[in-house]
Amino acid sequence: MKVLKFGGTSVGSAKNINNVINILNSYVEKDTVICVVSAVGGITDKLLLAGNLAKNKDASFSEVFNTIKQIHLDIVSELIPVKNDSVLDFVNNKLDTLKSLLDGIYLINELSPKTSDKLTSYGELLSSYIIAETMKSRGLSTELKNSQELIVTNSNFTKAEVDYALTNKNIKDYFNSAKQSITILPGFISNSKSGEQTTLGRGGSDFTAAIVAAALHVEQLEIWTDVSGMFTTNPKLVKQAYPIEKLSYQEAMELSHFGAKVLYPPTVQPALDLNIPIHIKNTLEPESVGTIISNDHINSGVPVKGISNINNIALLTLQGSGMIGIPGFSKRLFETLSQEKINVILITQASSEHSICIGIDENDADLAKTAIDKTFENEIALSKIDPIIVETDLSIIALIGDNMKNHQGISGKMFSTLGKNNINIRAIAQGASEKNISAVILQNDVKKALNCLHEQFFEIKTKQLNVFITGVGNVGEKLVEQIKQQRKYLKENLKINLRVVGLSNSRTMIFDDEGIDLSSWKDQLQKGEKASLQGFFDGIKALNLRNSIFVDVTANYDVANLYADYLRQSIGVVACNKIACSSNYENYSLLKRLSLKYNAPFLFETNVGAGLPIIDTLNNLIASGDKITSVQAVLSGSLNFVFNNFDNSVSFYDVVKQAQSEGYTEPDPRIDLSGVDVARKILILARESGLEMDLEDISNTPFLSESGLKSESVDDFFQTLIDDEAHYQGLFNSAKVKNCQLKYVAQLNNGKASVGLQEIPEGHPFYNLKGKDNIVMFYTQRYPEQPMIIKGAGAGADVTASGLFADIIRIGNK
Ligand code: ADP
Ligand code: ASP
Ligand code: MG
Repeated sequence: MKVLKFGGTSVGSAKNINNVINILNSYVEKDTVICVVSAVGGITDKLLLAGNLAKNKDASFSEVFNTIKQIHLDIVSELIPVKNDSVLDFVNNKLDTLKSLLDGIYLINELSPKTSDKLTSYGELLSSYIIAETMKSRGLSTELKNSQELIVTNSNFTKAEVDYALTNKNIKDYFNSAKQSITILPGFISNSKSGEQTTLGRGGSDFTAAIVAAALHVEQLEIWTDVSGMFTTNPKLVKQAYPIEKLSYQEAMELSHFGAKVLYPPTVQPALDLNIPIHIKNTLEPESVGTIISNDHINSGVPVKGISNINNIALLTLQGSGMIGIPGFSKRLFETLSQEKINVILITQASSEHSICIGIDENDADLAKTAIDKTFENEIALSKIDPIIVETDLSIIALIGDNMKNHQGISGKMFSTLGKNNINIRAIAQGASEKNISAVILQNDVKKALNCLHEQFFEIKTKQLNVFITGVGNVGEKLVEQIKQQRKYLKENLKINLRVVGLSNSRTMIFDDEGIDLSSWKDQLQKGEKASLQGFFDGIKALNLRNSIFVDVTANYDVANLYADYLRQSIGVVACNKIACSSNYENYSLLKRLSLKYNAPFLFETNVGAGLPIIDTLNNLIASGDKITSVQAVLSGSLNFVFNNFDNSVSFYDVVKQAQSEGYTEPDPRIDLSGVDVARKILILARESGLEMDLEDISNTPFLSESGLKSESVDDFFQTLIDDEAHYQGLFNSAKVKNCQLKYVAQLNNGKASVGLQEIPEGHPFYNLKGKDNIVMFYTQRYPEQPMIIKGAGAGADVTASGLFADIIRIGNK
């Protein structure tokens, strides 16, 4: 004999009920079967919703009733042959009595726990009847037995406790003489000794099946549901979760007690008492293996078997100096909670005895506070202890595994993973058995916590990076394309799962929690919601994903101003925008400090030399203990273009104009030609080498003519270039007679930085610099005479995008 239980989704539609019948059919050839069924999926919730609306005098309860009615009638009409009117009559009758009950609740304005049980019983009574009749109509040897006639409980309505002596006897008596191959039993519902309708608690159909299985000592209990077993964590919150093949009873009990809804917690005990294996299977995928819960696989070696979570937790803290060393406080506290029938989910006590922390269901928080403050009113009046502190919107997350006790460092790993992801831990509990390590965190952080813990303990080697890019012009577009192309490579070779989760330009923005499909990102972005800087920030914050990285591919001042906000949320920042790092020192160092404090990387390699690894190299030199003595560099692609193309045969005006029209200069070429852009770059290098410096500290010897420097508009400026051609020809000729090349050089020597045009003699590393190439020479203690040189293209969309990409990968490799 086997006991099979089918949950709400499994019996949630005519199609699924047909699946159930197929499964049962394959069993009856070999065995007699007891089939426990839930209400049709979602019906219990709807019954309670209708009841609560009616209780609150909200007439819309009848709309909810109509939905309930329609769902059942649709299923009947699909499953039962039309000629069988008696089934339809029975169902209609039942629905009529349900309507009368709801009308009554509406009339008297009251929904007691007792009435609530009467109300919710309709779900299972209807589903079991329809399923039994369907099977009979198909010629299967089937009987429906009302579990209310078998399972006897006390009168603790909505979560009644079973009287096993009476219940076991009823079950044995009935099944000893039952002749049918298949018995359909409604789950969840029962009767009290005095004959009132009771229920076993939400999710209780699993328990019904376990009670029956234990009473009859069957060889196996099967729980058929809508997922392929008990997963490593809630599959609705963690996509990478996977079914656990084998679990011990203790592990299953801990996982379900701590929120793995797939199994109702009391289900395990009756099976454990008689060593009956529980097999969790998927009705929608009957061929998948599922999970076996038994005693056969204890100590399988894996330390952490699963992670679960309970939401809606309130944390109560009782504290005060008057508690120290005086016995009896905890006793009185727990007695108070027990008198109020408040279930304690988690307890921690500081070793100083100065405080006790208790996790309870949030719904009980007000009751608990009133009762506890009353119990300790004298001590509170004498200021020996404080009134109890209640914090809400919390969750408990728990790591579970029999074998954790044999492994060191599990809790360390758990807490450091949470810490690294900026998830604040409010309380911790670890049982001496070490089957469970729990932490209380903000409910808002649950999804992130489960995902990063899952990654840590179950995926181990892949690291997910969640990237949000703002500014998808030239460079941004190239970056997205590079990510699209390299995703597979990164996953396979670097174990980095790089996902673009948000994209924004100045008009629209999009988010996709699962990662944007990069094959159609442009179309999606075009149809996105209206963009705003704050909206993008809020969207990223609300998603609260681990390893989030904000990538700034704009040159926008307001975007740069938001970096601090991002870092404070532990969201890393990668920027090619130079504004933040070349702003005042105070702001630069604040961003650096925030980055450390919130463990959020702040990288800006592309601020100097586009994709060239200049800042990273400088950082590595310093980190390894080297000292920078001097930096000599040519860092402006635009100025190189200008001076590489300028000679006696062309006018300076023409060359600058060409540079502007080919996009080598800023729209306002004065920013490049005045040396400000280069000064910003050497400033960033100076700061990265540890100098506290501002832009004013950089000496800038201009090469522009007096009137060029004073020009008030771009047009005026171009006019001065024409007027002062002789000045510029003079610069060229002076260099030419010495056989030198003009280069705009940035230097850092003994803590002093300067920028200016220089005549570079033949043989010097700068002499042959071509096109938009940049070059940096680091003279250090370890490279005193022959400098370390980095040279290559210092501008261009592709190389700048690859520099941003490299920063993202640096974060991934950390
Ligand atoms: P049924 O109606 O079949 O009893 P439930 O909704 O009660 O189904 O339980 C199955 C659901 O439990 C799954 O759909 C899943 O969303 C949720 N769940 C939560 N944690 C876990 C877990 N660790 N493994 C599997 N399912 C889980
Ligand atoms: N129908 C009940 C509920 O939704 C019992 C169950 O499905 O297990 O809670
Ligand atoms: Mg369930």
